[in-house]
Amino acid sequence: MKEIKHFINGAFVGSVNGRTFEDINPVNGQLIGHVHEAGRAEVDAAVQAARAALHGPWGKMSVDERAAILHRVADGITARFDEFLDAECLDTGKPGSLARHIDIPRGAANFKVFADLLKNVPGEAFEMGTPDGSGAINYAVRRPKGVIGVISPWNLPLLLMTWKVGPALACGNTVVVKPSEETPLTATLLGEVMQTAGVPPGVYNVVHGFGGDSAGAFLTEHPDVDAFTFTGETGTGELIMRAAAKGVRQVSLELGGKNAGIVFADCDMDKAIEGTLRSAFANCGQVCLGTERLYVERSIFDEFVARLKAGAENLVIGPPNDPASNFGPLVSLKHREKVLSYYQQAIDDGATVVTGGGVPQMPDALSGGAWIQPTIWTGLADDSAVVTEEIFGPCCHIRPFDSEPEAIALANRLPYGLSATLWSENVGRAHRVAAQLEAGIVWVNSWFLRDLRTAFGGSKQSGIGREGGVHSLEFYTELKNICVKL
Ligand code: NDP
Repeated sequence: MKEIKHFINGAFVGSVNGRTFEDINPVNGQLIGHVHEAGRAEVDAAVQAARAALHGPWGKMSVDERAAILHRVADGITARFDEFLDAECLDTGKPGSLARHIDIPRGAANFKVFADLLKNVPGEAFEMGTPDGSGAINYAVRRPKGVIGVISPWNLPLLLMTWKVGPALACGNTVVVKPSEETPLTATLLGEVMQTAGVPPGVYNVVHGFGGDSAGAFLTEHPDVDAFTFTGETGTGELIMRAAAKGVRQVSLELGGKNAGIVFADCDMDKAIEGTLRSAFANCGQVCLGTERLYVERSIFDEFVARLKAGAENLVIGPPNDPASNFGPLVSLKHREKVLSYYQQAIDDGATVVTGGGVPQMPDALSGGAWIQPTIWTGLADDSAVVTEEIFGPCCHIRPFDSEPEAIALANRLPYGLSATLWSENVGRAHRVAAQLEAGIVWVNSWFLRDLRTAFGGSKQSGIGREGGVHSLEFYTELKNICVKL
């Protein structure tokens, strides 16, 4: 039985009052271990350690020295690949094949990419005239923002957490991480990697616990944290923004979505089906960038629905260690309750259930898991909650459209704007429509193709700010202008 502790000031420590909560395996409902829950005292210890580390060896290192350490962190994750893989699969239940190709390699890459970026990023300088004719020069230097509070979700635990920790550390900040209470394992294991990579104590800290009235809230209420980067639900983002307002702390928010996919009659149907099967059902639908609303041109509607149904029914439901499985459980029974409430709502609202809609029959050993069927609906009204609210499950609604302007209007009608996909072989149309979609990321004839140098983030209620490439620098550094009169 595992005991999962906080990682504070370079050491693993339990909670002062000994309070713990259970980490449950969503594959079979069995107990993985007991996780220590941080109170205000542990959060304060982590924040103080992070602040002190800013003024220790970490704060004095050159960019090259920091980059070398972060490369060792990435190599350390790779060296312990199977341990990270097992930990991520235990917490999330996701197929091993998925975590092997996405979560763990990307978790390592996030350290290398940002370390290398920092080594090569140019500065700015301006010469200016002065009334006495001698002139002045201005140049800008980047300084770390300070202690960064990192609050991350459970769907891609290592990947999304390191997406923040990588650039934060590359820029010279220190961090206090609060992973989701559902997925504490990989953030904790990363503490061991940090130790062996030579990251000084206090630079990377992890406190475990829940959100409201627990570690998450205590962290955002702590006055010594300089900025917060958060990925999670829009409602939680609002709470974090409110807490960060005290002391005028900056926030970077990557929030929820209800992403649209538009499929034009001039698409390559094979590509559109293959991409949509991934965007709707990968990671059991628990990807913020996934597609839950599809708009398909009427002339190909029936064929598209039939082929997506066949693809969904071909998914192989099973546990992470089954090499044939490409469809795992949801993260928890609690989340399944939420997703199933939308499955019921769809029926109440008059949907046609094309496939799925319930809980699959699993063998006895797995019957305690959070299994659910991939589900497709048609026939819902545009204002059904199933079509307007984020479900975060393996499901999508498909609706026909008749014209390009109608498809754009349908895609843009919700207050979210994280991502969109569009499928068309007409180059002119692809560019024209992509430009009009209100989303931070638009994929044309693809999905989840990510270059870590590009801007990532949501528009409207899907977030504030952009991370990725040089855009991460805007959040993780202060740009200071130095003006020198000559
Ligand atoms: P939540 O918003 O519920 O939780 C995210 C994190 O915030 C967790 O660590 C949670 O802790 C913590 N938290 C909850 N309440 C508070 C609070 N009051 N103060 C401080 N911290 C708090 O999101 P989920 O974990 O359910 O993740 C799914 C959501 O994340 C979806 O909406 C999805 O769209 C979004 N997401 C967005 C992405 C993007 O890039 N835009 C990417 C991936 C996911 P705990 O879990 O312990 O309660």
